[in-house]
Amino acid sequence: MQLIVSKKIFILLIFILLFSSCKRIDSGVNPENSAPASIVDLYGQIHVKGNKIVDKNEKPVALHGMSLFWSQWGGNYYNEKCVQWLRDDWKCTVVRASMGIESGGYLTNTQTEYAKTIAVIDACIKYGIYVVVDWHDHNAQDHLSQAKAFFANIAQKYGSQPNIIYEIYNEPLQVSWSNVIKPYAVEVIKSIRQYDPDNLIVVGNPNWSQDVDVAAKDPINDANVAYSLHFYTGTHKQWLRDKAISAMNSGAALFVSEYGISEASGNGNIDLAETNLWMNFLDTYSLSSCNWSIIDKSETSAALKTGANPNGGWTAADLTQSGTYNKNYIITKNLDAFGKLDSSAK
Ligand code: MG
Repeated sequence: MQLIVSKKIFILLIFILLFSSCKRIDSGVNPENSAPASIVDLYGQIHVKGNKIVDKNEKPVALHGMSLFWSQWGGNYYNEKCVQWLRDDWKCTVVRASMGIESGGYLTNTQTEYAKTIAVIDACIKYGIYVVVDWHDHNAQDHLSQAKAFFANIAQKYGSQPNIIYEIYNEPLQVSWSNVIKPYAVEVIKSIRQYDPDNLIVVGNPNWSQDVDVAAKDPINDANVAYSLHFYTGTHKQWLRDKAISAMNSGAALFVSEYGISEASGNGNIDLAETNLWMNFLDTYSLSSCNWSIIDKSETSAALKTGANPNGGWTAADLTQSGTYNKNYIITKNLDAFGKLDSSAK
């Protein structure tokens, strides 16, 4: 009799164990903790607070990841598997889709370039990381109507997703902030805000997004605007960090949507000492960064060697000096954040 009861209890225990393990697999979430499932769950709706970008808990947040190359020339890397690899292997918390506008880009191949951008946005949402939707243009004031229509569409389609960061003008040239770029930005921001009241908008400024101090003195009247600061460590030195400090002292929040450890041309030498000064600067001010770029072109700033698989899966031998440096940087900066996620989501 005793033996039979023990058997029954044993069988019951087996059933309980089986049931609980099935439940765990089904839900994909460990019931013993409430850890966030993704980076975007962890940080939520990022936004501007004073001269900082903060997470849903009002804590300063710095995203670190990779920029893709101009979509019309690097479009084979605009796919879901590449984004998944950048999250899983490089620990990117953000990927930038640099939709080329001129030179065979969106103006002339509208549907093709749009589809590439959408593929990256959808992948970033699927894998729970942030995506910078970049109007990669040097003359955007000449393409105002197209920019307004594009960003209105993106805002309507994706504005409820905290993943989206709008970058409405990559790098203006030597044109006036107050008379040319700011009026363009105000119009594009209006077209976004009719659908999306709260996501972060990053705005370029004169001289390839170096004149953040000029923009900060005549800021845009919107609660969630940051100004893009672009630098290439082989060319831009303390004088540009000083301009950035001046902008932050004026109250502006900055977002490094593009940087390279090459010279400003994207080619030339790598100055590791200056690069380390810049990376310390990013740490000191909690600035987000996207490295230029995921491409297998033969130039210093390209992260990949010629022929690297468009779908990721890259080994150390596939990475250039820049790719190796920046992958290590991104992993170092983001490992803690990924460590806070539910283990089934990593
Ligand atoms: Mg929104």
